[in-house]
Amino acid sequence: MSDCIFCKINSKEIPAKIVYEDERVLAFYDISPAAPVHILIIPKEHIASIDDVGEAHRDLLGHIHLIIKRIAEDLNINRDGYRIVNNCGDAGGQTVHHLHFHLLGGRQMKWPPG
Ligand code: C5P
Repeated sequence: MSDCIFCKINSKEIPAKIVYEDERVLAFYDISPAAPVHILIIPKEHIASIDDVGEAHRDLLGHIHLIIKRIAEDLNINRDGYRIVNNCGDAGGQTVHHLHFHLLGGRQMKWPPG
């Protein structure tokens, strides 16, 4: 999508510190980190939110979660634990309308989130 900021990061129009990339997925550091480690994992395909996924995305979603696990291992946050967050829609706190998963680690998380 031409006006989507994450599509622009994917096409390298907007710079980001990339930690992982393959043909389906891109992962990069969040510009405004909420934890010592804060990575965003996105599908390269523009999907607005988790509410827009269907059967055709089943394998992609599994792939994304295996990549998240791998990144957590690579960045050494897997031993102490980490959090995966997906905000969906306005009330869910989603501000960028391109599906993304937050990987947060390096500190003790609290519950419930705000
Ligand atoms: O889940 P939500 O849509 O609120 O998350 C969007 C995230 O995208 C924010 O954490 C924000 O800091 C991040 N962001 C970014 N680089 C941009 C624009 C937004 O990392 N250029």
